[in-house]
Amino acid sequence: MSSWVTETGNGYGQTIEVTGKLFSLQSRYQKIEIYETANLGRLLLLDGIIQLTYHDEFAYQEMMANLPYYAHGDPERILVIGGGDGGVLRELARHPQVKVLDLCDIDEEVIKAAKRFLPEMACGFDDPRVTVHIADGSEFIRQRRGYYDVIIVDSTDPGGPGAPLFSARFYADLKKALRPGGVVGTQAESPWLLPDVVRNLCRAARDNFKFVDYAAISVPTYPTGMIGCCVASDSRNVSEAASVPEAELAAVLRYYSPEVHRAAFAKPEFVRRMLEF
Ligand code: SAM
Repeated sequence: MSSWVTETGNGYGQTIEVTGKLFSLQSRYQKIEIYETANLGRLLLLDGIIQLTYHDEFAYQEMMANLPYYAHGDPERILVIGGGDGGVLRELARHPQVKVLDLCDIDEEVIKAAKRFLPEMACGFDDPRVTVHIADGSEFIRQRRGYYDVIIVDSTDPGGPGAPLFSARFYADLKKALRPGGVVGTQAESPWLLPDVVRNLCRAARDNFKFVDYAAISVPTYPTGMIGCCVASDSRNVSEAASVPEAELAAVLRYYSPEVHRAAFAKPEFVRRMLEF
């Protein structure tokens, strides 16, 4: 017997057919639910918001990991804030040059649930370079100075525990945590769904970094079918990749390529005007 799970908000609904609930827990921070779907593989919801389905998660994970990775060109120390499902780590772990892979998620229960029910994502935690920190990313980042080459913020929406990760102060702290040449990439919502959030976070990034740009990622199971990544740096034009995937890795990637890197930053006029690019 199947039924339908709907994420609602901002006048939209995104509905997915499910065949069974695998897991449900109200943690200290959020409600965690995992379903088996009829056609899209497993589904993770946090506070009723779709985080991923197996069907198209590769698009999000590959782009969130590789836009900042290749904008930098050769990062050795990388921090992921959020990302408790392990998917961004899985993509970063494909890069042998990386020496440090830190992940800071506020909610240990998301990581535990992913390890039990989302093995295709949580395999990212198996890499020996990974160190997990359980903390609020906005506080963790203040203890780091001049250390990371790349920081990726794979957060939930600003409604729940992710709220501090959308503030101007957080962007100032991200900048201080980078080494010279560093690049950040942040989960930057959809201009169709949350235009004010997108505008404000790009403004916070611009107030702190010399080069800021917004890339679009096609993810059909998110409401409006897309999400953005805000990429920022003080030293590089982030819409141009500073290096490209080796042939062996390029053969494995299903979404990211040097051509997609460039193209993702092309903006429809309404987005360009909204973000004042
Ligand atoms: N791809 C996703 C989406 O749909 O936007 C994000 C996925 S990932 C599961 C989001 C993670 O951010 C969750 O594991 C959540 O616990 C974590 N998170 C939320 N607020 C946080 C904070 N303040 N510090 C660190 N991690 C946080």
